[in-house]
Amino acid sequence: MLIRGNRNVYCTFVLLLCACTALAQETESPAVLTDPNLDANDNAYMDRQAEALLHEVDATLTRVPPQIPEPNERKLALYLLDAVLHDVHAPNRAPVQSFYPTRLKRLADELEQRTPDEGAIIWKLYNHGFIIRTASVTLGFDLHRGVQRFRVVEPAAEGRRYVDSPGFPMPDDVMNRIASECDVLFISHRHADHADPSFAQAFIDRGKPVVAPEEVFKDEPIHAEITHLERVAHEMQQLPIKDGAEELNLVVYPGQQYQDNGIPNNVVLVFTPEGMSFAHNGDQINDPYPEYQEDYKWIDRVHEHHKVDVVMSNCWMNDHMRFTRGFDPQLVLLGHQNELGHQIWDRVPYWGDSEYLHLTLPQLLDSEYPVLVMTWGESYHYVP
Ligand SMILES: [Zn+2]
Repeated sequence: MLIRGNRNVYCTFVLLLCACTALAQETESPAVLTDPNLDANDNAYMDRQAEALLHEVDATLTRVPPQIPEPNERKLALYLLDAVLHDVHAPNRAPVQSFYPTRLKRLADELEQRTPDEGAIIWKLYNHGFIIRTASVTLGFDLHRGVQRFRVVEPAAEGRRYVDSPGFPMPDDVMNRIASECDVLFISHRHADHADPSFAQAFIDRGKPVVAPEEVFKDEPIHAEITHLERVAHEMQQLPIKDGAEELNLVVYPGQQYQDNGIPNNVVLVFTPEGMSFAHNGDQINDPYPEYQEDYKWIDRVHEHHKVDVVMSNCWMNDHMRFTRGFDPQLVLLGHQNELGHQIWDRVPYWGDSEYLHLTLPQLLDSEYPVLVMTWGESYHYVP
């Protein structure tokens, strides 16, 4: 017993020695520099600043929820968020990696608990992702877990490179809880900040339809599971959901992200069984304007064919005013702010940057159309 006891003391001593050595090595080894252009002290400061600012952003947005007109306090909180998220390496800063999923977990909790008696509850997710719930259905648009790598351009080096951000996207369990609460997912186009194969697979695994243009997930096994509806202006189509227990009426407008040669971009207008209608424009853009006019043949006339309640518009579309007049909605929701995969000038802030980007967003904000701005995890109760 004594020998054994001595051996235990010896083992404990050796273990302690190893632990101390490991600790010393960890302290001596250079810290991981989130931004390699800053030293450890400056990186640590940027983390502390992000934590302090995001704490205030969260407190303010909780106290002053989305509303029209937007209170100045909310505007300041969203601009503060811009400042944090336009740090090139923001997706890899621990406070950002905590702020984002915390808000999405809250959203998942709400989805499991809230159903409106009238109107629709609208949640904002990452980038141009939205969820709309009425008394009878829950619709998902461009749902995305969040950026997994982002673009960095360093003029002194070899130009653009990508940095992985595995700690940013929402955890799979949050994604699965969200997918379980939705009835259908609409994906506008193939770009990676809109089409998230994991989110789409979560819907497919639950027997829920995923509607997208033909090009989305091309050459991947999941492609065979995607629903491809005809892209025809103004024409009403039907889509069974909830294993056929409900049917949605919808129009799939043949939109395009029209830059250079353009790529197909579904602009869906979905009617809920309650008779409300919601349009999502993906990355619709016709740039340069006025050369790329083709889509305006239908954009200008949507309101002559259909009553539109809400339009979810990407904030970087060049001619917001003309697009909005074409749909003539009761409410405009702006999306696509702070897409962190992009180079920082192209993340597109809440403050607009409209002059540089040649957008008519300021005219829309000054127009008769109510415009609502939300961020990750926020919701708004729309009543027609
Ligand atoms: Zn996009």
